[in-house]
Amino acid sequence: MADVDSASYFSRMIPVPEIGKAGFHKLQSANVAVVGVGGVGSSISYYLAQSGIGHLKLIDQDIVEQSNLHRLQGLGKSHLYYPKAEAMGDSLERLVPSCRVEALVDTLTVSSAAELLKGSDVVVDGLDNFRTRFILNRHSVNTRTPYVFTSAIQTQGHVGVFSPPETACLECRFHGVIDGAQDGCDVLGVTPIITGLVGAIAANETLKVILSSRENQRSRLQTIDTVSPEFIQTDIAKRSDCGACGPEGPLENEPKTETIVTLCGGKTFNIVPRERSDIDLSEASRSIPRGSILTSTESVLVYRIAHVTVSVFRNGRVLVGGVESPREALRIAEGAIGLVRGISPVSS
Ligand SMILES: [Zn+2]
Repeated sequence: MADVDSASYFSRMIPVPEIGKAGFHKLQSANVAVVGVGGVGSSISYYLAQSGIGHLKLIDQDIVEQSNLHRLQGLGKSHLYYPKAEAMGDSLERLVPSCRVEALVDTLTVSSAAELLKGSDVVVDGLDNFRTRFILNRHSVNTRTPYVFTSAIQTQGHVGVFSPPETACLECRFHGVIDGAQDGCDVLGVTPIITGLVGAIAANETLKVILSSRENQRSRLQTIDTVSPEFIQTDIAKRSDCGACGPEGPLENEPKTETIVTLCGGKTFNIVPRERSDIDLSEASRSIPRGSILTSTESVLVYRIAHVTVSVFRNGRVLVGGVESPREALRIAEGAIGLVRGISPVSS
């Protein structure tokens, strides 16, 4: 196969007046973290890489499943059961010359955020829950890193850009929002058009932050509805009593990290160990009947027993899909971790 060189690949970017040679160099040397590489996050990553962003960090805790393939941009059946971050990283590195992708198969928590997001010029949100968005927002406030917020459900989406302390932060607008069990895309549904559109707009806002564009939509929320169709802009005011960016500083309601979290999908639970381990997955895979294994890589072992899909990650985290309760998920996760001698079971 013929090689594609970077200069000709991006040759149509330079003439765009808002980019130019100097702007393109800025894009090439930028470090952007995308947190959550699902429908919206895969679209964000795709357009950032295709626009010449030089370094992308993709952070995601989940694996590719049949029910999310319809909205994962650039991924297909061959990626089933692979970690989304690694599958997307692999796809982008094949597609875009010069884009260096770091795939981190991990959960963003209060304790892991600083390490996972270290060195990022902008953090971009491809998440599906406010619990983790608030962790991302606190990182943005604490480190003065611009934060591009997104959300998408059914045919509607939102994109916002926050650069505290100069602007409001996410919690100035969405303080106290709690993720409802009935709010996820598994219940309400989502179209690939809205996830793709929101991702493209968020990638565009990210470029504008890096290029210091005067047209930056900072502290403004864009609402997009593909049915009406509507594009609405709302200004977000800085809240003087904001618990994240207010003058009192980030004192109260620091987002907590829970041991068991339900993922979008309703019947999938993420069990985060209290202490990180380093599991030998090749040893663990020998304890599973070969016919039950769906995927076995360096970072994850995925297998299915009856209707339950279990993903054991190298750091001791376990995803359990197809169960009704956290208690059942925890029991299965403990059994999975017990496959490897010397690893303590996770506790509730
Ligand atoms: Zn705030």
